[in-house]
Amino acid sequence: TNEVAYSFVVFGASGRLALSRIFPALWQLYRDNRLPQGIKIFTFCRTKLELRTFRIKCVPYMGLDKSRDPEKYNSFWTNVYCCEGQYDNADDYVELTAAMARQEGRHDMLVANRIFYLALPPIVFDQVTLNIARKCLSSTGWNRVVVEKPFGRSDVAYKVYQTQLCQTFKESQIYMIDHYLSRQVIHNFFVLRFTNLIWSETWNNKHIAAIMISVKCEKPVQARADYFNQYGIIRDIMTNHMMQLLAMLALEQPYSNEVEDLRDERLKVLKQVLTVDFSDVLLGQYVNNGRELDPVKVGYTQHSYIPKDSMTPTYAMAVLRINSKRWTSVPFILRVGKALNETKTEVRVQYKPTQCNHSGNSLSIPNELVLRLAPREQLFMRMMQKRPGPRMALRETELDLILRDRAVPANYQALLLDIFAGNQMMFMRTDEQCEIWRIFSPVLAEIDYERPRPFYYEFGSCGPMAAYEMAARHGFKFYESDEWHASLGN
Ligand code: NAP
Repeated sequence: TNEVAYSFVVFGASGRLALSRIFPALWQLYRDNRLPQGIKIFTFCRTKLELRTFRIKCVPYMGLDKSRDPEKYNSFWTNVYCCEGQYDNADDYVELTAAMARQEGRHDMLVANRIFYLALPPIVFDQVTLNIARKCLSSTGWNRVVVEKPFGRSDVAYKVYQTQLCQTFKESQIYMIDHYLSRQVIHNFFVLRFTNLIWSETWNNKHIAAIMISVKCEKPVQARADYFNQYGIIRDIMTNHMMQLLAMLALEQPYSNEVEDLRDERLKVLKQVLTVDFSDVLLGQYVNNGRELDPVKVGYTQHSYIPKDSMTPTYAMAVLRINSKRWTSVPFILRVGKALNETKTEVRVQYKPTQCNHSGNSLSIPNELVLRLAPREQLFMRMMQKRPGPRMALRETELDLILRDRAVPANYQALLLDIFAGNQMMFMRTDEQCEIWRIFSPVLAEIDYERPRPFYYEFGSCGPMAAYEMAARHGFKFYESDEWHASLGN
């Protein structure tokens, strides 16, 4: 039998993503013996990283606890090698490959598999993919490349990106990573929907009134502020994570469990989403609420790192329509914002109300299915029940549908395991992103050109009141838990 060696290269290892996500995930998988035997990890960046200092920098993120096995932790680091290089210098890639080859060993029976993780800003993307393709590919095993958002900033820019990527790598080698899709709650919902009559039969416009996908974040814009100010909240979150959630919710049942059947269905439903019109979008930007002492908790344009006249939206709501038999007339409301009252990512599926006569009163009772991704995963159905006691009184209850499984690896860990296993199910295919840009590019171009004044909302509030009004106009109901504080309308 052939011996198999694995190399995992992190480009841009000096950055935040590598420190806070990739290395912790690699360590935790290694600790739990889930990484392939004999794996070697390489860093590649311009910054000169010393293994010793890099290791210290990683400590706050590694999730180390007292019960950890120090020997195992030390042994993890004996498998890490730091390479310094310029992204545009082919010779540096030759050296990286030599370093990989040294660790992989060289004998006739060796299979060398390589993963190249691009934890880099898009500006160097072309140079890096090209140099990997020219200098770093293994000829005896598989090669996989992992890319992070942003995937371009418009349909035109994405075409260039896609061409570049697909000229260099086959679709089966490309892993467009989206950590929202690795959540168990999404997988669980998928089974729930297709295997239970009560959901499979009601998952359509006959029974569903509106669906809202929300990504609310308490933190203001801090990290990568330059990038954010140029891209805005729609490009940062809606055109990738949120649209992937929408596709997973709205797709038809895949023909089989095969990866491409699922990805075909995601693409099909994305093709049915109508191009977003400017009148379907509402933009917001946070302002100082006058009560915070923390210098970070100020208005967006008061941050030292943001231009004073910036119109970049930090909040957006978009109402999308899907032109299909199943979804005509159901609004998919996407809502995302920074510096809000809470951090929460969830989908709320609101059913049409049932008219019921109770104690002589006509009540309108809606059911709601909630898929919560953060702060912790939850899946529950809001429904009505009889209140305990002699009287025939009603009360609302929640049917908890989540299965808690401690053995399930966390986000990035699950995705890394999929990459090793060659499972692309929860990774976007390049044509899916192409459709997403078709949906959003016209409105984004209009926003860039017109620079419309956003609705201002106070730091720490629920966002602009106008967004609540817009959602309500589309038939979405807010319940008590979603009360908003006073915010500045305009
Ligand atoms: P980052 O810290 O800004 O950049 C990563 C590394 O890339 C830096 O340490 C730097 O390494 C190199 N780099 C930065 N700017 C460069 C430039 N102008 N030219 C050449 N090299 C440059 O980014 P990150 O936060 O780690 O994120 C990496 C990628 O993942 C980005 O594309 C980002 O959009 C995406 N992403 C990040 C997150 C997150 O949570 N951070 C989430 C989702 C997606 P050297 O100078 O040492 O070479």
